[in-house]
Amino acid sequence: MRAMAAQILDGTAIAARIRGEIAAEVKELTSQGVRPGLAAVLVGDDPASQVYVRNKVRGCKEVGIFSEGISLPAESTTEDVLSVVEALNARDEIDGILVQLPLPEQVDAKQVLYAVGPEKDVDGFHPLSVGNLQTKRLALVPCTPAGVIQILKRSGVEMRGAHAVVVGRSHIVGKPTAMLLLNEDATVTICHRYTPDLKHFTRDADILVTAVGRAGLITPEMVKPGATVIDVGINKLSSREQFERFFPPGSPERAKREAAFAKNGSVLVGDCDPRVMEVAGRFTPVPGGVGPLTIAMLLSNTVKAAKMRRGMLEPEPVGSWRD
Ligand code: NDP
Repeated sequence: MRAMAAQILDGTAIAARIRGEIAAEVKELTSQGVRPGLAAVLVGDDPASQVYVRNKVRGCKEVGIFSEGISLPAESTTEDVLSVVEALNARDEIDGILVQLPLPEQVDAKQVLYAVGPEKDVDGFHPLSVGNLQTKRLALVPCTPAGVIQILKRSGVEMRGAHAVVVGRSHIVGKPTAMLLLNEDATVTICHRYTPDLKHFTRDADILVTAVGRAGLITPEMVKPGATVIDVGINKLSSREQFERFFPPGSPERAKREAAFAKNGSVLVGDCDPRVMEVAGRFTPVPGGVGPLTIAMLLSNTVKAAKMRRGMLEPEPVGSWRD
């Protein structure tokens, strides 16, 4: 196999630039009397969700967006959550509503997500947002997929005419990422659990996006030399055995990861085997790749929602219906 070091696409740096741009825009909007606002609804006390919501609220503060975290007890019913969402729909200072997933089992997540007013749907999960994206209207686009596109654009990766292969087809990541790539004129293949011979498809990708949640699913043999690989997956390796398999002695990242494992008892990795870096032309690390973009795009969506709701953006695309 041809050994070459991939260019690392630094999501932390790209996200910092985007947050800087958002802060400037929020300042400008606030001086015009429009201060964008986000409400984050957390149901229950899942520690990971608490951290996510805290980071989102802090992210808002840093760029000047008004934010509010609302915590509901773990035993809340669907109706309890719906009444909170409906109250937020009615509040003028709230432009974006996000309901942190997963919701407790007894809460009907679909009903709750669809109750978020489409004009405040900063997660982009409402069917109307999905339809707007598909028809290339002005849309609130799911944050992680929007972040994937930002990484590609800001790293100068040509999407037009490229063969983009997306592994994973969830409503949250895979499908909207595929639609955004299609809207950028890539030729798109979507793979999933039932795709026979995954390698046959991934090996042909100029741009490979993996959003599965299986550590090491993508091996170097599955990647076209020089391809751009965007690894969305987040997986925790918490046993020594897993760690040794992923970062064998002599592997370039081992020393750095060893320190993290010793400190935390686990390390985060993506869907790609680290050796993919030796084949790919460009590569997003985990952590520090797509992850930081997700919150940046949430902030961006909140500003966009504030402007959309006030008629400051054109809802129809330029061009004919076919475009
Ligand atoms: P889901 O579990 O909803 O979707 C996973 C997808 O992977 C499904 O479409 C599934 O196919 C597919 N899949 C599972 N096994 C295989 C396989 N062996 N071969 C091919 N496809 C397979 O997860 P999400 O989309 O929500 O998240 C995906 C990953 O991205 C997770 O690791 C998650 O933690 C991470 N993530 C990261 C974010 C970030 O900010 N960086 C944000 C959101 C998610 P099928 O549909 O057939 O079941």
